[in-house]
Amino acid sequence: MPSHSHLASRPRFMPPLPFHVALLLFAFALAPALAARAQAAHAHVRNVAGRSLLIYSIDVEGGQSTLIVSPSGASLLVDAGWPDNNGRDAQRIQAAMRDAHIARIDHVLVTHYHDDHVGGVPDLVRRVPIGAFLDHGDNREDSAATRANYAAYLKAIQGHPRRILHPGDTISIPGLDAVVLTADGQHVARIPGVTPRPNAYCAAEPRWPADPSENARSMGILLTFGRFRFLDLGDLTGAKEIAMVCPANPLPPVDLFLVSHHGMNLSNSRALVDAIHPRVAIMNNGARKGGSPEAWERVHQSPGLQDLWQLHTAEGSGAAHNSPSALIANPSGAPDSGYWIKVEARANGSFSVTNQRTGETRRYPRP
Ligand SMILES: [Zn+2]
Repeated sequence: MPSHSHLASRPRFMPPLPFHVALLLFAFALAPALAARAQAAHAHVRNVAGRSLLIYSIDVEGGQSTLIVSPSGASLLVDAGWPDNNGRDAQRIQAAMRDAHIARIDHVLVTHYHDDHVGGVPDLVRRVPIGAFLDHGDNREDSAATRANYAAYLKAIQGHPRRILHPGDTISIPGLDAVVLTADGQHVARIPGVTPRPNAYCAAEPRWPADPSENARSMGILLTFGRFRFLDLGDLTGAKEIAMVCPANPLPPVDLFLVSHHGMNLSNSRALVDAIHPRVAIMNNGARKGGSPEAWERVHQSPGLQDLWQLHTAEGSGAAHNSPSALIANPSGAPDSGYWIKVEARANGSFSVTNQRTGETRRYPRP
């Protein structure tokens, strides 16, 4: 018969646990409950978002940073803004991430190696967990500044997967279709599901100068979420726009157009802008960068355009070449708070645009 002497000899009451052990046990006991609560809160947020696609045009003062978050929480960041300024642009990206309830970015796409696009990558890598980097391959612009940008980029992304994309490639984002239209100076001739059409706007198009810079090598993408389409061509310049959309245009009409190259006059030819027939455009200009009156006018006059939103008042243009202040996130005279423009799109093609500064939202019903 087994002896019970050992059990019998145990004290009736447990001696008090050392405080740190008690704390640890308490934390272990509580952890699953807290995790479940956090999960429930997250699920609630996604439900409230109502299965929308989110697009933030983040104010990086005349560069590009566009955060795209699918209804499942998968994310794509197009460009990371400028370097320096104490990590200003990375912090603005993080603010948009908090608004979208994401803690990491799955893909960072670098359109090209100018410092207003790739310059913010080292700061971002230090602050944010990132899945993979997507770009067009080696820099081939013959300038010391751009070579230095490219070297800093390669150093910053060490240890991360890197994927070099070509026109026609797709980016895997659950719930969205993202296809590469332009990269490294090349472009698609057609994309799945779209029949290229003769482009009536080509005949009147002036001759655009060849551009040996990285701008002409910008990676451009078309993002499709159900019936909603968003076009972002980075800083692609006129001659490459024309090469893609003339004489036959392989692009479908789009709901939202990120005005190319911050609204500079070197980009945004009529043959492109008129042929894609955007319902709404967002211009990521700075107060004194981009937003040229000529390009503003071409976008503003494009057939069917309902609104042209701007990240800043274009200080070099008069009132006739700026949108009303309700459509400007950071207007003239106000202290620069780096307000974004936020888009929420539904799979049925309807979407809304919110000015973070005013909190005002405009709705664009499905066509
Ligand atoms: Zn740029």
